[in-house]
Amino acid sequence: MKLNIACIEGDGIGPEIVTEAKKILDKVALVYGHEIVYTNVLLGGASIDVHGVPLTDEAVEAAKAADAVLMGSIGGDTTTSPWYKLPPNLRPEAGLLGIRKALNLFANLRPAVLYEELSDACPLKKEISSAGFDMMIMRELTGGLYFGERHTTEENGIRKAVDTLTYDENEIRRIAVKGFDIAMKRKKKVTSVDKANVLDSSRLWRKVVDEVAVDYPEVTLEHMLVDNCAMQLVKDPAQFDVILTENMFGDILSDEASMVTGSIGMLASASLNDSKFGLYEPSHGSAPDIAGKGIANPIATILSAAMMLRYSFDLDKEADAVENAVKSILKKGYRTIDIMSEGCTQVGCKEMGDLLADEIN
Ligand code: NAD
Repeated sequence: MKLNIACIEGDGIGPEIVTEAKKILDKVALVYGHEIVYTNVLLGGASIDVHGVPLTDEAVEAAKAADAVLMGSIGGDTTTSPWYKLPPNLRPEAGLLGIRKALNLFANLRPAVLYEELSDACPLKKEISSAGFDMMIMRELTGGLYFGERHTTEENGIRKAVDTLTYDENEIRRIAVKGFDIAMKRKKKVTSVDKANVLDSSRLWRKVVDEVAVDYPEVTLEHMLVDNCAMQLVKDPAQFDVILTENMFGDILSDEASMVTGSIGMLASASLNDSKFGLYEPSHGSAPDIAGKGIANPIATILSAAMMLRYSFDLDKEADAVENAVKSILKKGYRTIDIMSEGCTQVGCKEMGDLLADEIN
């Protein structure tokens, strides 16, 4: 199979971690007989330095021409970098928001996995963390409260602010379909999270999710109120497979689920549109404090590349091989500095990439 991948190295540790992710993809291509064509795309600070803007039309076109986008991360030290003296619409983050919008990426996927070997990093009690967990938070990314009409007024000396939460059934249906499709590739369970006891938008959400579920008889669907879900994530995270939810609830719950794993360098993510196209990036930022030191953990980016294989190219066997390589290397006791613990062997970014590539045969 030919894989056309646009590569955004970005800023800070971005080039280091993307180099290792490409190393893994190249090894997968070699072992499983695929051909990969990479196109480099500038975004964020790297684009500001060359073009004066964080995102160009050419960058958008190059990303659109690819089958999928692999990204490191963008941005610099927000207190010292000259990029942050620019007006907000010319800063690195504006490039990221711009490309997500231009590519119509409405579905955000954030897996939260507790690896047995890293369970000490989990802040939950041993009796809860020992069960491990492997969930996918599926968040609607382009609708709801963050995109609704808003205004601030003053009436009779009283300041008043209004935000509106709107969803139409098409917006709900397309994310629900993605959620069920992804559950079919996993443990076939969807927990749809809403606030249907209070909000009309949630009552519509629940109805449309029920309608979509009819087409997926193999998937078990449950509905859960968002406040209960926030509690269940720390009480019994092992119960979840796919959590399907709207924009603001997903923003909060995905951060909560990530933190429960305790390891920022391990957290992958993907944003998809309604075709197979997606942008795959680690959940963490560009870590300017460790950029260029060769110590960054490349695993979040490598696991994002595995998601790309699974969700954009339907290469499940290849994705499994990458994920199994990560588990195996952790089991062998290799760790980057951020996940280091006593008795393990500390390795740098490049060595971790080499070790993982060697595991894929
Ligand atoms: P950060 O995630 O970059 O770093 C937080 C801490 O985690 C730092 O101590 C860093 O060294 C460590 N860390 C992060 N990733 C690591 C890795 N792979 N291996 C080892 N350690 C790692 O968050 P921040 O410091 O708040 O932000 C830095 C820059 O990143 C800012 O400019 C911010 O805007 C940007 N950012 C970008 C994205 C993105 O591109 N999607 C996301 C978040 C933050």
